[in-house]
Amino acid sequence: MAALRIEAGIEELVRQVRGPVFEPGDEGYAAEAAAWNLAVEHHPDVVVGATCAADVQAAVRYAAGRGLQVSVQATGHGATYGFEGGVLITTQRMQDLHIDPHSRLAIIDAGVKWLRVMEEGAPFELAPINGSSSDVGAIGFTLGGGLGVLGRTFGYASDWVVSFDVVTADGELIRATADENADVFWALRGGKSNVGIVTSMSVELVSVAEFYGGAIYFDGNDAAGLFHAYAGWSRSLPEEATTSISLMRLPDMPDVPEPLRNRLTVQLSVAYLGDDGEALLAPMRAVAPAIIDDVVLRPYTEADRIHNDPEHPVPMEHTNVVLGELSDEAIDALLAFGGPYAQCPLLMIEIRHLGGALGRAPADDAVGLRHAGYTVMFLGALMPEIAAFVPVAIAAGCEALASFATGQTFVNLHGPVASDGDRRRPWSGAQADRLMALKERLDPDHRFAFGHWS
Ligand SMILES: Cc1cc2nc3c(=O)[nH]c(=O)nc-3n(C[C@H](O)[C@H](O)[C@H](O)COP(=O)(O)OP(=O)(O)OC[C@H]3O[C@@H](n4cnc5c(N)ncnc54)[C@H](O)[C@@H]3O)c2cc1C
Repeated sequence: MAALRIEAGIEELVRQVRGPVFEPGDEGYAAEAAAWNLAVEHHPDVVVGATCAADVQAAVRYAAGRGLQVSVQATGHGATYGFEGGVLITTQRMQDLHIDPHSRLAIIDAGVKWLRVMEEGAPFELAPINGSSSDVGAIGFTLGGGLGVLGRTFGYASDWVVSFDVVTADGELIRATADENADVFWALRGGKSNVGIVTSMSVELVSVAEFYGGAIYFDGNDAAGLFHAYAGWSRSLPEEATTSISLMRLPDMPDVPEPLRNRLTVQLSVAYLGDDGEALLAPMRAVAPAIIDDVVLRPYTEADRIHNDPEHPVPMEHTNVVLGELSDEAIDALLAFGGPYAQCPLLMIEIRHLGGALGRAPADDAVGLRHAGYTVMFLGALMPEIAAFVPVAIAAGCEALASFATGQTFVNLHGPVASDGDRRRPWSGAQADRLMALKERLDPDHRFAFGHWS
């Protein structure tokens, strides 16, 4: 019955939108619905390849008229579960980007990835607050706060948002700023909220042309010395330094530098905006010999060299826990779980150092993670031979750190949601209550069913 209703209105929808419309069986349907996370498959009734805000409005109204749910996808980096039926709006064709070097404002359309903002800001020595991979969508990243590679210096990406243009559940296009639709503006800065579909956002860029940074790789057998040294070193760092340390088990693949393949390594990632980076890094370089040392002064457009995230889609699952402090006991527990003497199937266990400007909110917002010391992410590639073990190992990693953890998570790295209680964990109780109340008021039919709040 639903299929008949959809067919009856699809021609009208095709007339109303400038972008392509796909139904199951159409050529291009599977590619359009595909997520970057290859572990996730979407099977919507209709996919609308939106080109502009009016296309998004038409797609939402089409869904509302037929009682269908609406999801949105830019790149699929954040896909943690597949959905069946409904309308999927893809935003990859929404590529307008305007940077005003005088006001330092960037107006960013829903489909723009961080890489373009970095490249087009560079001639003006302006940079966005992007994360470890510039292939991630700017808006999806920012809605979850957005933990950037310069986070300790500049705070969360959402701290730099000036306005959002948003299509609401009844298909209206509204602007949300600190003064206009302020409750929506509050929810979209960190709430990963699905109270609307953001068609564009305006953000302030920061003045950064170059930085001292990149990654150093060490032998995994030196993990204990490196992780314990990192705990004290990271505590001493100025806000101009944002760093992380990871246990990596990289596969034997051509994309991976030969010396790092098929073995345990430790990756130290660094982004530093102060003077004398060599002196800053000297204590960590002294702990153990490097296999690869790629920390240099470099243009900001090379920010992806800090984490060296995968450049191609992968099937994966991940989650994170939050620590107030990085104690020796927590490090020992982590190494017992994933260090050189453990059989661990996970690709990466990454500790990111928080604090600094991340702890300072510019105004009331929905970022949940302001007063934490570190996040620890557990990430596994769901390759067929180990796919069954990965979720079990992720749960075991979280359990190993449970007695040191705050119980919170960082929403952008939360991964699959296990329960309603789990869904609320990225925020304080008051923030989660406010987000849910807003959802009930603005989208009482739960038309928008995507992402963390689906
Ligand atoms: C390799 C990799 C590196 C990452 N690094 C970081 C990092 O350093 N810091 C960090 O904070 N996060 C990081 N993330 C997490 C990433 O920020 C989130 O997964 C983010 O949601 C991805 O946004 P997207 O638009 O690219 O993905 P999508 O899967 O397309 O979107 C994910 C979700 O974002 C929301 N969304 C997207 N577009 C819209 C829209 N127009 N309107 C409303 N909601 C929308 C929806 O909830 C959607 O389900 C990383 C993820 C990956 C895979």
